Amino acid sequence: MNDYFSELSQKLSVYLSEQQLELIHQAYLVAEAAHSGQMRRSGEPYITHPVAASLILADMRMDAQSIMATLLHDVLEDTDVSKEELSAQFGQVVADLVDGVSKLTQIKFESKAEAQAENFRKMVMAMIRDIRVIIVKLADRLHNMRTLGAMPSKKRRRIAIETLEIYAPIANRLGMRDWYVELEDLGFKALYPMRYKAISEAVLRLYGNRKELIQKIETSLHEALENFTIPNVTLLGRRKHLYSIYKKMRSKSASFSEVMDVFGFRIVTADVDACYRVLGAVHRTYKPLPARFKDYIAIPKANGYQSLHTTLFGPFGIPIEIQIRTKEMDKVAVNGVAAHWIYKSSGFEAAEAQSRAKAWIKGLVELQQNAGNSLEFIESVKIDLFPEEVYVFTPRGDIIELQRGATPVDFAYRIHSDVGNSCVGVKIDRRLAPLSVPLLNGQTVEIMAAPGARPNPAWLNFVVTGKARSNIRHFLKDQQEKESVAFGKRLLGSALTELSSSLEKIPADTMKALLQDLGYKNTNALYENIGFGHQIAEVVAQRLLSHVSHFDIHLPSLKTPATALAIKGTEGMMIFYADCCHPIPGDAIVGHWVSGKGMQIHVDSCPKVDAFRYKFHECVPLCWDEHIQGDFVVEVIIEVNNQRGVLGVLASAIASAEANIDDVHVDEDDGAYTKLRFVMTVRDRVHLARVMRRLKTNTAVLRIYRKKYE
Ligand code: MN
Repeated sequence: MNDYFSELSQKLSVYLSEQQLELIHQAYLVAEAAHSGQMRRSGEPYITHPVAASLILADMRMDAQSIMATLLHDVLEDTDVSKEELSAQFGQVVADLVDGVSKLTQIKFESKAEAQAENFRKMVMAMIRDIRVIIVKLADRLHNMRTLGAMPSKKRRRIAIETLEIYAPIANRLGMRDWYVELEDLGFKALYPMRYKAISEAVLRLYGNRKELIQKIETSLHEALENFTIPNVTLLGRRKHLYSIYKKMRSKSASFSEVMDVFGFRIVTADVDACYRVLGAVHRTYKPLPARFKDYIAIPKANGYQSLHTTLFGPFGIPIEIQIRTKEMDKVAVNGVAAHWIYKSSGFEAAEAQSRAKAWIKGLVELQQNAGNSLEFIESVKIDLFPEEVYVFTPRGDIIELQRGATPVDFAYRIHSDVGNSCVGVKIDRRLAPLSVPLLNGQTVEIMAAPGARPNPAWLNFVVTGKARSNIRHFLKDQQEKESVAFGKRLLGSALTELSSSLEKIPADTMKALLQDLGYKNTNALYENIGFGHQIAEVVAQRLLSHVSHFDIHLPSLKTPATALAIKGTEGMMIFYADCCHPIPGDAIVGHWVSGKGMQIHVDSCPKVDAFRYKFHECVPLCWDEHIQGDFVVEVIIEVNNQRGVLGVLASAIASAEANIDDVHVDEDDGAYTKLRFVMTVRDRVHLARVMRRLKTNTAVLRIYRKKYE
């Protein structure tokens, strides 16, 4: 027996039959012959690679077919051996496994961003037919990562990125914890050798420094377990792997010590009952953090993972994270989905967890069969594999990765902040869609932008990415500043007009003296504060004039409507219309300062006006500018005799009068009589009157009136 095969054969003989071993040896011989003469970059014969990958699986006690496929995994790709030959000698299953792994190998992911839909589909399909394909592929990748040092640096980088972005997350999702951790740390080391070194040294130092504290915690936990006389319990310290420390430091901009300010322990017990008793014991030793307890034993994760998770207040307030599970659960936690194929004679039979893992895979297979289109299917598999992300395409076919729940507005800001700021609409898969709809995997997103358009404050209610949020806030703040300056200037001008003066007539020195008095750097700062309602225009006007004439002018606090400020509709965010009375052009109106927000406009007869009408500092007389343009919201109540289709007839009458319906409510309905409330937009009172006249011509209409104020 050849040297390269002997170690593998020894390991396999522990749990496989003579007959199985013989077949595996045949596979080895085929692979060896096929690869003969080929060398790895390290200088070793190529066959050492499939053998080493097989050893990884043999240590896990994977089944014979997986081992054969692993030995043969590169022959289709790199040698003259055909799939038919494999099928004839080793059976269809092994041939399919090898074929599946070869197809996976052909997919070169430059990065997660290039895991284009089609490639991803191929990979998932291969996995779904037999999930051992991905297990073999992961073993292959693991060995390649362990021996990555021999590769030229550019290739090393590519493989490392692919490992971190594609294969490690898959291992994680399949619950293969050990492989996941090793793949990530090897990828991290290859991609960022200096950072890897720095963090690993820091971790060593830290554990050196904390030795005593860790021992103290261990001792007290041990004591607790002994006091409760729970037999066969193992307490293990858990360490974060290096790449997870690095990711946390990056994503949360946390310092090393902040990230490491947690201790992790795993407690492995004999049975489920003991798990809950251990939980009780540790909760008595250290107080648990509220809302951090999770029972994955009662409700296992989709891939079969089971465990109790709790976090305790340790000594000096340091949190201690504890996982409690049985030996069987621990094996599933480490091997994940692979646990299903681990050879039964190993004595391992985590029946329930296994059947869950099986159910998960079976669910995927059924989904594949039932899904009307493959996108639907891929969508759900992707949620399983990459639950945090969504991948969409630009019209040019570039793939964009966003947080799950991201909307077209998030997408627009991801492309560029200018695109976000000027976006007015979106086409998703060539169809118009709302800007607030969460994007789904595989969609093509086309942003429609208009020069001069600007972000809507309402976007803040649905965007999920930090980039979109901060850009919108920044823009609005800028905009608000500009608008409040312009509005404040107008307010002051109008207050001066009322006192028979004007801004132009105020000498520069007088203005300067006032700015100094009030502590403003310049006139814009003063205008801005007036625009926001922090400073009363009339008071400022009085002070300016008193400077001029050297004596105080006392005015009656009631302002004359004759000099009311004209609303132009271009004031932007500084003015907003009250929901209680919905003023429209033509209505008599008054303004109300709402601190820090600007001015709210009410209909003069709105009962809410009574509360501030005589408060000099809060109430501003207003009128409408004669050139005002725009759409204004108004509510109209229509009482009707119930007739079939009456709602439709009324709606079309409103539309034909060029008003837009925003919303319809049925306020009362007793069968014969219905009270409808239409929320619509009109240009002004004249327009509203025309709409109401048109509605009255309908014989079903009993009464029609504008909503009275509540
Ligand atoms: Mn390989």
